[in-house]
Amino acid sequence: MRNRISVVGHENVQRSILKMVGDKDKAPGNGHADLGRRHQKAPFRSNAHPIAMDSARTALRLGALKVMVIYRRSEEEMPARKEEYHHAVQEGVEFHFLQNPVEILGNREGWVTGLTVQKMQLGEPDASGRRRPLPIAGQTYNVPADIVVVAIGNNPNPLIPAALPGLQTNKHGGIIADEETMETSVPGVFAGGDIVLGAATVILAMGQGRKAARAIHAWLMRTTETARN
Ligand SMILES: Cc1cc2nc3c(=O)[nH]c(=O)nc-3n(C[C@H](O)[C@H](O)[C@H](O)COP(=O)(O)OP(=O)(O)OC[C@H]3O[C@@H](n4cnc5c(N)ncnc54)[C@H](O)[C@@H]3O)c2cc1C
Repeated sequence: MRNRISVVGHENVQRSILKMVGDKDKAPGNGHADLGRRHQKAPFRSNAHPIAMDSARTALRLGALKVMVIYRRSEEEMPARKEEYHHAVQEGVEFHFLQNPVEILGNREGWVTGLTVQKMQLGEPDASGRRRPLPIAGQTYNVPADIVVVAIGNNPNPLIPAALPGLQTNKHGGIIADEETMETSVPGVFAGGDIVLGAATVILAMGQGRKAARAIHAWLMRTTETARN
């Protein structure tokens, strides 16, 4: 059975799409059947961004037969690191520049069936210094797809601050924690990693985890001691 999967990169609006055509029957290993199911969503950040490269390569490794990155600007403006781009090409990802997804198509049952893609051209540089992509009037086409993965960026989940009165957050929604103990404004609640730092790295998250573990231990010893006395 042939499956077609798309991953859509957003930066508030749709900017890039990875279109993957997978073959469930030929896909090796576990988890590939998931590529054949509908409405699977997974985050990656922006248009042809490093995270888009990760997503494209991961999709291939999960058994997609074909992965296309559709990017609204040209190769030159692409924010992904050059080596990541080259690795993605080496691994078999196809890149299609100056194309922009404008609509996700679906059927009555709620299944994704494809995408409408707008052909683009480059205009004058915008505020970012990169040449602005402009639609070429009347030049759109449809790409069949069974699954669209929308990547909307790394934003803190507001659930915990909303459920925990008194938990202080910064203007981005990240949790404010003491730099040394990782304790938050709520006594006995500790936080670390991306939720405190913003989108950062594994090593920084692990470092904060270690700090928090030590502080949690000390906190527990203190409170247990107090309870005993
Ligand atoms: C595509 C991509 C590629 C990356 N590549 C790299 C890289 O090459 N090198 C690098 O160093 N970093 C990389 N990063 C960044 C790195 O993944 C993060 O910095 C790191 O994972 C942060 O760890 P964390 O434990 O703080 O958060 P996370 O790894 O995000 O873990 C948070 C966990 O909390 C869970 N959670 C959220 N809300 C709730 C809730 N209400 N209740 C219960 N659980 C909840 C989530 O499901 C998740 O499992 C990458 C990130 C992405 C998205």
